[in-house]
Amino acid sequence: MQKDQKPATPAQAKSPSHSQPFTIGSYSLFSLNVQEFFLDGGAMFGVVPKPLWEKVVPADTLNRIKLVARLLLISGNGRNILVDTGMGTAWSEKLQSIFSLSPFKLHEELRRLGLTTHDITDVIFTHLHYDHVAGMFELQGDHLRSLFPEATLYVQADNYQAACHPHPKEKAGYVPLFIEALGQQKNLRLLNGETELFEGISLLTVHGHTPGQQLVKVFDNHRTLVHCADLFPFAAHIPISWIMSYDIEPLKVFDEKTYILDRALKESWILYFGHDPMHEAATVRQDQKGIVPDRFVAL
Ligand SMILES: [Zn+2]
Repeated sequence: MQKDQKPATPAQAKSPSHSQPFTIGSYSLFSLNVQEFFLDGGAMFGVVPKPLWEKVVPADTLNRIKLVARLLLISGNGRNILVDTGMGTAWSEKLQSIFSLSPFKLHEELRRLGLTTHDITDVIFTHLHYDHVAGMFELQGDHLRSLFPEATLYVQADNYQAACHPHPKEKAGYVPLFIEALGQQKNLRLLNGETELFEGISLLTVHGHTPGQQLVKVFDNHRTLVHCADLFPFAAHIPISWIMSYDIEPLKVFDEKTYILDRALKESWILYFGHDPMHEAATVRQDQKGIVPDRFVAL
């Protein structure tokens, strides 16, 4: 791995084929809906009573709710940049059953755009919890093989350190097998704080869910979209107190949500949700209760 912030030499990647992509500046943005899995509904909504969250997000008989792994693909300026990689396939049968993990459709989703995993030039990891990093690998015998051997991989140094030496509270979120395999990738770049990684693509850091989580902001003079990672995994997490039990520092999450929502309101950001099966993205507005979703957006 290399400890610098500079992207690799600009590539000339194949462009996705799509007649009317959603664009910001010189980038086309696509949602890749690659997988479904289930997690405990109580853990996803923290101290919010079940009768409240269940009205918004239905639970199954095991009290679990459905999540998606929705990956954001940002294409332009000679690059195909993927944000996160989902759960993937390198799981035991027991864990596949615990998560009710659906088949991994990354290849199909890329094929729909005329691309393969080899056309991905860069992968930005919002953070290294298993549902964001494991999809990068597939099992070959008993080894993990990267699906993106040519791509440059970006993660915050703080988050990589947290993943290598996790706090006991979030130990279950980091699977050593995937973190070790990532650490062996020669194209891994560890970033130090907020940065404009590429022209029109900035990384914003937040630390309450896990140290060094990065949100991905794509912007031009007219429009801004922010991939909210696990600060707002669902549109239902927009109310300030609807936060997850998984968060290591809930009070910090309160402050970070307040800051991001305030900017989203003032600057008309589109917030993008990586785990919400129903809502891909939304703008926000102020009402008497606080900041709430305004217009739902599909890429
Ligand atoms: Zn997640």
